[in-house]
Amino acid sequence: MGEGRTYEIRTYGCQMNVHDSERVAGLLEEAGYVRNDAGGGATPDLIVFNTCAVRENAADRLYGNLGHLFPVKKAHEGMQIAVGGCLAQMERQKIVDRAPWVDVVYGTHNIGALPALLERARHRQKAQVEFEETLETFPSLLPARRESPYSAWVSISVGCNNTCTFCIVPALRGKEKDRRPGEILDEVRALADEGVLEVTLLGQNVNAYGVEFGDKYAFSKLLRACGELRDHGLERVRFTSPHPKDFTDDVIAAMAETPNVMPSLHMPLQSGSDRVLKAMRRSYRRDRYLGILDNVRERIPHAAITTDIIVGFPGETEEDFADTLDLVERARFSSAFTFQYSIREGTPAATMPDQVPHEVVQERYDRLVALQSRICEEENAKLDGTEVEILVAEGEGRKDTATRRLSGRARDNRLVHFAPHGQTPRPGDIVTAKVTRGAPHYLVADDAPLSVRRTRAGDAWEARQAAPSQESPAPVSLGMPTIRG
Ligand code: SF4
Repeated sequence: MGEGRTYEIRTYGCQMNVHDSERVAGLLEEAGYVRNDAGGGATPDLIVFNTCAVRENAADRLYGNLGHLFPVKKAHEGMQIAVGGCLAQMERQKIVDRAPWVDVVYGTHNIGALPALLERARHRQKAQVEFEETLETFPSLLPARRESPYSAWVSISVGCNNTCTFCIVPALRGKEKDRRPGEILDEVRALADEGVLEVTLLGQNVNAYGVEFGDKYAFSKLLRACGELRDHGLERVRFTSPHPKDFTDDVIAAMAETPNVMPSLHMPLQSGSDRVLKAMRRSYRRDRYLGILDNVRERIPHAAITTDIIVGFPGETEEDFADTLDLVERARFSSAFTFQYSIREGTPAATMPDQVPHEVVQERYDRLVALQSRICEEENAKLDGTEVEILVAEGEGRKDTATRRLSGRARDNRLVHFAPHGQTPRPGDIVTAKVTRGAPHYLVADDAPLSVRRTRAGDAWEARQAAPSQESPAPVSLGMPTIRG
């Protein structure tokens, strides 16, 4: 079908979308498309937008991009444009009504249909708009073109059974569907055998995993089972996003007792006010949240805990916000994704009274960011002089050209910039180094590395560099917005 036509995927939003884009790339390449890596700004024959619906301006941005592409498409005969992802699932036919030069619109439940829809649109010279209300094929069963040879996303569930009042995800991704543990472990084992060092288990609500097949301990069992794949070379297991209400002691025990499960935990808080948490329908309160942090820190003292916080939820008072600042002060997060509340059409919160004026939200947001930055710096400074094991990453250190530092992630997922001192670690290799400075949002290790371990993943990365351009992957950014949990 693709006959060597070139493609480009533009991905917005969370890790789940990055995972899905790897599947879209795999599907297209299986259908004969090739990645538009020719460089020189060559216009691709196909552009796929994998959209996000979480942010208020998501729709404006998509229509802006589509507007820019109208003349490009007119000048490039046979070019096609496809729009998928959460915003497509939400907007549907509206996208073609507003941008009739779009060829295909598909949803979050029928990614696998894309190549056939593109073909049908080409032959019928008519836009194809097709959606499924329930999941057709688990995305993880579709072919994948992975971005990184050393780090991989593995989806364990899609959808969410929660009903947080600010969130559109359940309406767009549907009720929670869980993959069978055996299937997940087969995928993780195959990845480890390929040389992948690190896997991140993905789900809108990973620690509710197993609800669908009635096993409330399924997630901790899965973590322990990943532990047994260390002898296949699986060194790092991460997961995102857990929901505080489902965070149980068996998961904390599995984290503490399984050596290759990393001591990093992303646990969205959203607000520190019980009154606001109730209005958000988050089904936990401050004390429970702080209690989980205490349990985690008791079993895993050096765990790095990160979070998501929304400022300016409808009805939020200065007292509510003071509760959030107080909880942040007590929680000592190693970092936090902070968001200004934005109305999302179709969510209960969108029509709630007492929407907070923008200037008030902005002022509170600035205070929260200042507080969290101070805490980040204090927590990072505590690591001065300690040894860290760094998985060298691609694309994180390039901007640091002056000092020629390279970069990667420590076991607790902190970003580390390190000076190689003439050694040549590759992305995918493991470097051990001593921290010489804790900066607000990263660690620095400027002394000579204590050790450099070359890995199969590093070899694979090097082989990709040497292979034809089709094989050189784009960097995987680890700093993207987190899955809404
Ligand atoms: S915020 Fe997370 S847990 Fe809540 S409904 Fe959205 S995806 Fe589900």
